[in-house]
Amino acid sequence: MSTDVMVIGGGIAGIQASLDIADKGGHVILVEKTPSIGGRMAQLDKTFPTNDCSICILAPKMADCYSHPNIDVMTYSEVIGVEGDAGNFNVNVLKKARYVDETMCTGCEECVVKCPVKLPNEFDQGLGERKAIYMPFAQAVPRVVTIDKENCIWFIKEKCGACKILCKREAIDYDQKDEEVNINVGSIIVAIGYDLWDPTPASEYGYGKYPNVFTGMEYERMINASGPTGGEMQRRSDGKRPHKLAFIQCVGSRNPQLGHAYCCSVCCMFSTKEAMLAREHHEDIDSAIFYKDLRAFGKGFWEYVERAKKDYGVRYINSDATVQENPKNNNPIVVYDVAGRPEKEEFDMVVLATTLIPRSDAVKVAEMIGIPLTQFGFFESKDRILGPVDTKRDGVFLAGYCREPMDIPESVAEGSAAAARAVETVLEKGVSV
Ligand code: FAD
Ligand code: SF4
Repeated sequence: MSTDVMVIGGGIAGIQASLDIADKGGHVILVEKTPSIGGRMAQLDKTFPTNDCSICILAPKMADCYSHPNIDVMTYSEVIGVEGDAGNFNVNVLKKARYVDETMCTGCEECVVKCPVKLPNEFDQGLGERKAIYMPFAQAVPRVVTIDKENCIWFIKEKCGACKILCKREAIDYDQKDEEVNINVGSIIVAIGYDLWDPTPASEYGYGKYPNVFTGMEYERMINASGPTGGEMQRRSDGKRPHKLAFIQCVGSRNPQLGHAYCCSVCCMFSTKEAMLAREHHEDIDSAIFYKDLRAFGKGFWEYVERAKKDYGVRYINSDATVQENPKNNNPIVVYDVAGRPEKEEFDMVVLATTLIPRSDAVKVAEMIGIPLTQFGFFESKDRILGPVDTKRDGVFLAGYCREPMDIPESVAEGSAAAARAVETVLEKGVSV
């Protein structure tokens, strides 16, 4: 029997669950697949409906998590096997080699400057560059660099070695090996979040074909002061800043043909936020949001939309929309209809509210842990109304977007709910934390 809880996924839901358990005296092992905790919230510029700075809220929680005496954070790690039952799970975790000694690296990033390999930066949705040795983002936790083995010259040709030569603390270790660790825990919380849908196959929106069509997450990175353009909106075609912006809703969402029949639950609000932020960057910007239904269902959401209209001059147009291009200036042209009458309007930039989808490894995780998925590929609750964070497997709980579409406040609430249920399981099994 173990009193420990394993949290899989270090986004806001997993971080909140870990902190709640640890603050009450329980011991948590937080397993995060990427080199840093933080999840998607770390990529966002501001958050609706308050327009608070996203990383300013998240960074202190990330730091608290990492320094908490009751939380062991395992980054760059994945669960590869689960055996046993509630109160006594045996979990195999693969700790991937970073080729950097975490205890020695101070995060000075001198090695990053000298590394000659340039690659698209995933954190910036490919808009910026990173090196083969990299810090995932400025506020990453832990503040430790990682070597991308697939693209590092040392691992490809046994040449270069610049980072090793340069590192005065001798933190670079090309001989580091992946490590398998067996951990005994009483309960498990799954909080692995969501993936972003690539709209390239939906050719009617022109993404990947017309340079000035962006996704919502690309736009979030672009307007972020620590993003690839230093917070400036820039057209892909000529680097100029846009004066007219169109936001198109439900791109891939509520669309059974594309396999995503559900509402992603956040796009109406994040497009409203993004249109407001455009105006905060430049007073002369004109923004229009093309929507099917405006789903402003949360507390303060309708007032937020009203504020966007009244104080930021955002135009809301109730229509399906597709995108064409003016080949003379690469301006996207939005094609829509008003009461059945076809209309067209030219913009400088289009931002697509693309749907959010289950993690690519959700099926693998579900099979490994022995919990079912819903028809849409999210993890299934035991009872959506009466036991939303419980699963059909005793001792396994869910939190955040991996369960069903939800925003940050809901993910935080679910993190706390799952934490309470996970601790209850341990107590029910007769051991106290
Ligand atoms: P995530 O943030 O996805 O975190 C999951 C974590 O699990 C990640 O760190 C991931 O690396 C890790 N992981 C994945 N697989 C594994 C695995 N197998 N093993 C271990 N770890 C794993 N919401 C708002 O409330 N306000 C906003 O303004 C807002 N704006 C948005 C703008 C855009 C463009 C988008 C796309 C979404 C926005 N959202 C907003 C929604 C918000 O991002 C989510 O509600 C929130 O991030 C969900 O948190 P989470 O912890 O459930 O998932
Ligand atoms: Fe970059 Fe690899 Fe050279 Fe280090 S050894 S500087 S990671 S290419």
